[in-house]
Amino acid sequence: MDVKGQYLPLDKLRLAMQVLDPCMDDYLFILDLHTRWYEISESAVSRFRIPSDEFYLDEKQLADQVYRKDLEMIIQDLKDIADGKKTRHDLQYRWIGADGEPVWINCRGRVLGDSDGNPEFLIGCINEIGRRQKADNVSGLIVAASIQKVFDELVANHENGYILRLDIDNFREINEKLGIEYGDRVLRDTARCIESVLGEKQYLYHITGDEYAVLDFSSTCDEDVRNLYRRIRKAVDHYVVETGFTVFFTLSAGIVHITPADTPDYATMMALAEFSLNEAKKRGKNTHYFYCAEDFRAFMHRKMLLHELRQAVIHDFRGFDAYFQPVEDIRVGKLYGAETLLRFTCENGSPVSPAEFIPLLEESGLIIPVGRFILRKAMEFCKTMQEKLPGFKVSVNISYIQVLKSDLIGDLSRYLEEYGLSPQSMQMELTESGLFETDSSYTRFCSSLKELGIPLALDDFGTGYSNFHYLYHIDPQIIKIDRSFTLKALNHGYEFTLLRHMVQLTHSINSKMCIEGIETRDELDKICELEPDFIQGYYFGRPYPAQEFYAKYLN
Ligand code: C2E
Ligand code: CA
Ligand code: CA
Repeated sequence: MDVKGQYLPLDKLRLAMQVLDPCMDDYLFILDLHTRWYEISESAVSRFRIPSDEFYLDEKQLADQVYRKDLEMIIQDLKDIADGKKTRHDLQYRWIGADGEPVWINCRGRVLGDSDGNPEFLIGCINEIGRRQKADNVSGLIVAASIQKVFDELVANHENGYILRLDIDNFREINEKLGIEYGDRVLRDTARCIESVLGEKQYLYHITGDEYAVLDFSSTCDEDVRNLYRRIRKAVDHYVVETGFTVFFTLSAGIVHITPADTPDYATMMALAEFSLNEAKKRGKNTHYFYCAEDFRAFMHRKMLLHELRQAVIHDFRGFDAYFQPVEDIRVGKLYGAETLLRFTCENGSPVSPAEFIPLLEESGLIIPVGRFILRKAMEFCKTMQEKLPGFKVSVNISYIQVLKSDLIGDLSRYLEEYGLSPQSMQMELTESGLFETDSSYTRFCSSLKELGIPLALDDFGTGYSNFHYLYHIDPQIIKIDRSFTLKALNHGYEFTLLRHMVQLTHSINSKMCIEGIETRDELDKICELEPDFIQGYYFGRPYPAQEFYAKYLN
C-alpha cells in the first residue's frame, strides 16, 4: 500500500536528510515525479558529478551524471515509474564521480502516490557498492580495505611497528573435508583466537579467504612480535583441542617491520608481507618468516630470470644452447661419446648457471619444451659425429618432470626416426631419486626406454638417495659418479674404498661405471686404480659448443 501524498511529511524527510547526512555513508533522495525536481543529501554534491543538492533531473542532467552505458536503462526505469508501471526502484548502476570516474551505486526507492493514487514522489537511498565491503560477516572483522587508513595514520604519527600476514595452512582441506559452512566457522573462530591474544595497539583485519593481517604497533622488537605469533599459535592449538580435533590446522605468518623512516607505501608493504608469508609457507608452514631484503632480491631475481626463460622459449629458444663434454673410454683410451649440457645466456649477454635455471625450468614446466629442444640438438650433433665416428654415443640429461608430465618415449622414437639414428646412439641420464621406488610412471618409463633400446644411465650416484636395492629393478647400463663424490673419494680413504666397492658392484650387475670430475693427471691415475669404464672431466675436455667439439675431435 503506497502512502498518499497528503500524509507524506516531506518537510520532515528533508529535515532528516540534513540531520542524518553527516552520520551516514549513504545518500537519501526525493524525486518529484511531476516536476522532476530532485533533492539529495548534501554530501553527495562533492562525491558525484551533480550541480548541487537540488536540481532538475531531466534527460540532459541524467546524461551528465549517469555512466553512458547505464543511461538507457535508468531512463527507461524512471519512465516506467512515472507511468505507474512500477512502484519500486531497485537498480545497480554507475554514476559519474566528481573526479569523472564511474562509481557503482545501489539505488533503491519506493513510489509515493498523490491523493488520486498517481505516482508523485520517488524517495529512497543510494549507497556506494564499493564502499559497503567494510566488514566481513564470515570472520566478523573489518576487511583489508580499512587497513590502509589505520596504516597511513600510524605511519604518519611516526609509529614503529610490524605487520603480520597470517594464513591458515591447508584451509582448502578443511572446506573439502568438513564443508564450507564448517570452514566459515573456522574462519570466524580463528579470528577470535587471534583477537583473544591481542593487546593495545594491535589490530586485526581479514584480508581474503583464510588470510588475516595484524597491524602491531605495540611490539618494539622482533622478539616481541615473535612472541605474539607464538601466542596466536597457542590460541589456535587450544581451539583445535577444544573441537576434539574435529578440525586440525596451523597458521603461518609473514612479518614485516614497519619503520616510518624507510617504510614504503601501503601497497608495497602488503606485497612484502605477502612475500614473507609465502616464504614462511616454503619453509614448511606452521612457522613465521621475517622479511629480509636479501631474500626478496633473490626472489625478484628468480622471478625476472623465469620471465626471461619464458620469453626465450617463446622466441624460438633464443639464448639456449647445447654444449657437449667428451666422455673417454678409459679401457681402450679412446673417445666414447659426449654428454649434452644445456646453457643459457641472458639477453644482456651474461651466462646463467644450469644449477640456477634448471630448477626454474622444472618448477615452471618449461623443461618440457626445452627438453625437446635439447634432445633435437643432441641428435643433430650425434648424427654429425657418427659420420666420422660411427659408434659415437650422446647422452642427454632428463628431468623427472619430463618423465612424469610429458610423452618422452613418444618424442624419443619420433626424433630417432627423424634423424635416422639407432637407439643405441643415445643414452638417457636420470638422476637417482626416491621416485624410482615410489612412482610407478618412473619405473614404467625405464622399461619403455629399455623396450625402445635406449640405454639408461643412473646419474649423480652416491650424492643423495642411494638404494642398492632398486638398482636391480632399473638395471641401468651405466652408473655415473658425481664430481662431489669423486672429490671425496680422492681425498678420503673411506670414500675411496667405498667407491672401489661401488665399481665392483656395478660390474657385478653388468653395468658400466663412469666417473665424473677428473681434472688432473694425478686424479686420473688414482681413479684408474679402481678400474672404472669411463671418465668425464676437464682433464679430457670441457663442455664445448658443437662447432668447437667438431673442430677438436673430428680432425
Ligand atoms: P651433471 O649431469 O652432473 O653434469 C656434469 C656437470 O659437471 C656439468 O656441469 C659439467 O660441466 C661439470 N663438470 C664435468 N667435468 C667437470 C670437471 O672436471 N670439473 C668441474 N668442476 N666440473 C665438471 P653443468 O654443465 O654446470 O651442469 C650442471 C647440472 O645441470 C648437470 O649436472 C645436470 O644435472 C644439469 N643439466 C645440465 N644440462 C641439462 C639438461 O639438458 N637437462 C637437464 N634436465 N639437466 C641438465
Ligand atoms: Ca649428467
Ligand atoms: Ca653429475
